[in-house]
Amino acid sequence: MTFATAAPPLERLKAILAELADLQHAESIADWDSRVSMPPEGAAARADVVATLTRVMHERFVSDEVGELLGALEGLDDPTDAALVRLTRREWERARRVPGELAAEMSHSAGIAVAAWDKAKAASDFASFVPHLERQLELKQRYIACFPETETPYDVLLDEYEEGMTTAEVQKVFTRLKEELVPLIERRQPAPELTGPFPVEAQQRANRLVLEAFGYDPAAWRIDETPHPFASKPGFADIRLTTHTDARDLTSLFSTMHEFGHGVYEFDIDPSLARSPLAQGTSSALHESQSRMWENLVGRSRGFWRWFYPKLQPLFPDALGTVDEESFLQAVSAIRPGFIRGDADEATYGLHIILRFELEQELLAGTVEIRDLPEIWNSRMNDYLGVDVPDDAHGVLQDMHWSIGLLGYFPTYQLGNVISVQLWERARADLGDLEEQFARGEFGQLREWLRDHVYRHGSIYPPRELLQRITGSQLDPEPYLEYLRTKFA
Ligand code: ZN
Repeated sequence: MTFATAAPPLERLKAILAELADLQHAESIADWDSRVSMPPEGAAARADVVATLTRVMHERFVSDEVGELLGALEGLDDPTDAALVRLTRREWERARRVPGELAAEMSHSAGIAVAAWDKAKAASDFASFVPHLERQLELKQRYIACFPETETPYDVLLDEYEEGMTTAEVQKVFTRLKEELVPLIERRQPAPELTGPFPVEAQQRANRLVLEAFGYDPAAWRIDETPHPFASKPGFADIRLTTHTDARDLTSLFSTMHEFGHGVYEFDIDPSLARSPLAQGTSSALHESQSRMWENLVGRSRGFWRWFYPKLQPLFPDALGTVDEESFLQAVSAIRPGFIRGDADEATYGLHIILRFELEQELLAGTVEIRDLPEIWNSRMNDYLGVDVPDDAHGVLQDMHWSIGLLGYFPTYQLGNVISVQLWERARADLGDLEEQFARGEFGQLREWLRDHVYRHGSIYPPRELLQRITGSQLDPEPYLEYLRTKFA
C-alpha cells in the first residue's frame, strides 16, 4: 500500500490561499451585485450569504494548519514567496487576536448602525444616531484592547489600513498641512462657476472617451451607475467601476477618473500574483494616491484639458458653448470651501480629513463626548474653512464611516493626496513633460511608468518600503504643498 506524500508546505499554503481568494471573489460579486443590480428586497437573504462566506473564510484562515505552515516557511529565498509568507503571517496574527465573537458582533452591529445612520442623516437627526455611535465606539475599544502592545490606541486602527503608519507620523504631516492650507485657502481668488444642465447621456459619453484614452478595455472592465461611486475587483481581469451622473454638474467625470485610478492599480498587478493575498494594492493610502493622481494631477491639469476640452465642449453646447478653455479649467480647479468632504477641492480636502483625524482620537481618548460632537464639528469647520454648517446632515452625519466602525481610515485619504504628488514628481523626473503628452491625448507613458513602479508589485512591498524604493524618501508633505502653492498662486 502506498500513501500519497503530503504537499510541501509552500504548495499547501498557496493552495489554501487560492481557495480563500476564490471565496473572496464570490463575496466581492455578492457585494457588487447588492450595490449595483439587486432588487432592494433581496437584502436580507444577501446578508446571510455574505455572513456565511465571511465566517467560512475566517475559520479557514485562522486555522492552526495555516499557523503551522507559516512556521515551516520562515526564511524563504524567493522574494515573492517570502513576501507572501510575511503578509499572510501579518493578517493571520491580526485575525487570531480578535475573538470570533467580537468580530461577529462588530459586523452585525455595523449593519444595524449603518441603517440608523442612513435614517438619521435623511432627517438630520443626530440624537437618534447617538446610541449606535456609542455602541460602535465601545466595540472599537474592545477591538483595540486585543493589541495591548501598540503604543497608542489609534496606532492599532491606522496600522490596519496603512501598515506601519503611526499616529505621531500622521500628526506631524497634518500639522504641517494645516499650517499652510488655512492661509492658502484664505488667499483664494474668485473663480468662474459652471451652470448646467449637463445631460446625463452626454456625460456618459464623455466618461467613456476619457476612460478609453486612459486605457479602459471593455473586455476586462465595466462601468455602471450607483448612488455612491466605487471600484471593485472580484478577480483577475475583472474590474468594475461605478459612477453617479447628475445633470446638475460634471462631478461624474472626475469621480470616474478617480475610480479609474483605483481600477488600474488592481488591473495592472502582475498576473502571476492572482489568487493570492499579494494580488491587491499595498495599502489604502497608496490606493488613494492612484485615484487622486488620475483625478487631479492628470484630470485637472492644463495639458489634459488642452486635449479634452475641444471634445467635451460640443457635447454640452448650451452649458459650455460660450465658456472658453481657461475659464473652464479655473472653474473645475477652484478653491471653494464647503461643508461636504466628498465634494471638496484639492486644497480644502485636507482640512476635512484633519478635522476627522482629531475627533476620532478625542473620541477614543474620551476627551470629547459623543453628544457634543455636532457643536465641536461646526465650530471647527468654521475655524478651518470659514463655513457655517447649516445642519448635521451637512455636518457630523455626512459620512457613513463611523456607523460601520471605520475609525482610523480617514487619514489614508489625505495621505493618498500627499503620496500622489511624491510619486508624480518622480514620474516627471523620469518621463519629462507629461502635460505635453496629455495635450496630445497620450497617457500611456504615465500608465506604463506607474505599472512598472507601483501597480505590478501588488502587495509585495509594504507601503513604506514601496514609497522609499520609488522616491528615495519617506512620507513628505512638501511636494504636495509646493504643488498647491504653484497651482493656486
Ligand atoms: Zn478613492
